[in-house]
Amino acid sequence: MEIKKGIGVSPGVVIGTAVVLDAEDLVVPRRQVEAGETGGEAERLGRAIAESMVELTDLRNAVEASHGKEIAKIFDFHMQILKDKSVLKEILGEINKNRSSAEYALSTVTRRSAQRFGQMKDKYFAERVKDIYDIEKRVLRHLLGEKREDLSHLTRDVVVIAHDMLPSQTAALDKLHVKGFATDVGGRTSHTAIVARAMGIPAVVGLGDITTEISGGDNVIIDGNRGVVIINPDEEQLAEHRELERKQVKFEAELNTLATLPARTLDGHDVSLWANIEFPVDIDGALMRGAGGIGLYRTEFLYLATADDHEVTEEEHYEAYADSLRRLGGKPLVIRTLDLGADKQTQAKQASPERNPFLGDRSIRMCLHDIPMFKRQLRAIMRSTVLGDVRIMFPMISTLMELRQARMVLNDVMEELEDDNIPFRRDIPIGIMIEVPAAAYMANHFAKEVNFFSIGTNDLVQYMLAVDRTNERVAGLFCPAHPAVLGLVRDVIRAGARNSIGVSVCGEMAGDPLYTLLLLGLGLNTFSMNGPDIPEVKKIIRSTTLENARQVARKVMSFDSERQVMHFLREETRKFIPEAF
Ligand code: PEP
Ligand code: MG
Repeated sequence: MEIKKGIGVSPGVVIGTAVVLDAEDLVVPRRQVEAGETGGEAERLGRAIAESMVELTDLRNAVEASHGKEIAKIFDFHMQILKDKSVLKEILGEINKNRSSAEYALSTVTRRSAQRFGQMKDKYFAERVKDIYDIEKRVLRHLLGEKREDLSHLTRDVVVIAHDMLPSQTAALDKLHVKGFATDVGGRTSHTAIVARAMGIPAVVGLGDITTEISGGDNVIIDGNRGVVIINPDEEQLAEHRELERKQVKFEAELNTLATLPARTLDGHDVSLWANIEFPVDIDGALMRGAGGIGLYRTEFLYLATADDHEVTEEEHYEAYADSLRRLGGKPLVIRTLDLGADKQTQAKQASPERNPFLGDRSIRMCLHDIPMFKRQLRAIMRSTVLGDVRIMFPMISTLMELRQARMVLNDVMEELEDDNIPFRRDIPIGIMIEVPAAAYMANHFAKEVNFFSIGTNDLVQYMLAVDRTNERVAGLFCPAHPAVLGLVRDVIRAGARNSIGVSVCGEMAGDPLYTLLLLGLGLNTFSMNGPDIPEVKKIIRSTTLENARQVARKVMSFDSERQVMHFLREETRKFIPEAF
């Protein structure tokens, strides 16, 4: 048994069989063969090694010709390993003794040797670990060939172990069978984590080297509440976690009874609890949990989910919006225009990486650099305005000029639609995300030009505190409770009130029960969060008075450290929900 500590990014406890996904999506299932089949497995292995050797010889010759002998030596090392009789003997031993499939035997032995190399004092050998995985991958590719397990069509329940998961990969997971996941890298507000929360599956990220420690088929506990992964747990751990799993199911069932009740404080103050979605289908679950509307539709997932990475057409945009409005039955839909870039790259964009992608050509900047793409989306949004309560929101705005440019493109689109005699509603509410400190600082100016604000605390914290939201090494520094962040959030809410425009928070902070009392006390009226978070936030709102929340907020704003803030908020919230943290 081994216990690994990471960052719990999606709550819940799950116990399951692991599939390990390597960087190339190769899944190595633990598979046992019949006693009579071990000879066939050994032959498959022999063939795959022979094919890999041919490939490596060609590669070495090509590299030697283009880059010289020294660099070509890398491939000599790979070939040496593949020719090593003791390695082959170890793999064949796995096949014959344990009746493992060739791929599972290979994977087990390479992981073992990688660990041996990794522990060596000699730096040269320690660095060879990557080569070992490189070799494993090459042979695996030949072994698996067309037989790769497809994570979107699994036939059994699994927990997925991966180095990293792209947001699009996470979104494409087969929700029915993937019960949880754990990754080597990532942070709390990475989009992968957000998608996991929205899907309601437990996840732990930032585990360092979990992919090298778990083999496909291992029994694994993923505890998203505590950010812990337990490999091959003993009976005691299993019993403890089964009990946690049971309690959680009970707590959730209790919370779900709140779905149809209003989000009203004890002194009669009503609050709107809306949901964030990535896909129209997410709306059904959100409504079931009592969402009053969709406060953030992350439309970039239309791009991230396309299998062939084609440009999303106006019709595809329109279909998605029409579908969403049908599901919503009159409830509002805030469509955020494409927020591509940074960690939400299309494959085409991945081909030309930027040095600092979060500070680069992302979001509204990318749209303003690609007007035809932007217009395709805006036309579809405007066409959908006749189908329901649609609002439009521009992300990552940092200057007034950007907002005005975006509005100009929108005006062009309206004129074009008029020329084409296509109906639309001109009075569509227009809002912006406040997620860059510059925009927060100038909220008073922006408030005069838009109908609403939505505070994106995920990026606001990242930019305010200079902490990459996806980097597990600085995850401890990513904290919405930092007094500087809280000051900005308070000022934006005030600027909204002063100018009589709506303000919501749609970053992860809105769905974190730790901040419910504070945000309520600061005067926030609309919270937009992942569907599964709604019941718990509602429970807190229904258990307090607005006056109490205001007192909490006043006290919090007098603190000068995030530790004080968090400690105080935890204590105050526990008064209402002892099970909360
Ligand atoms: C945010 O930045 O807080 C936000 C809601 O947007 P996203 O997480 O999609 O960047
Ligand atoms: Mg953002």
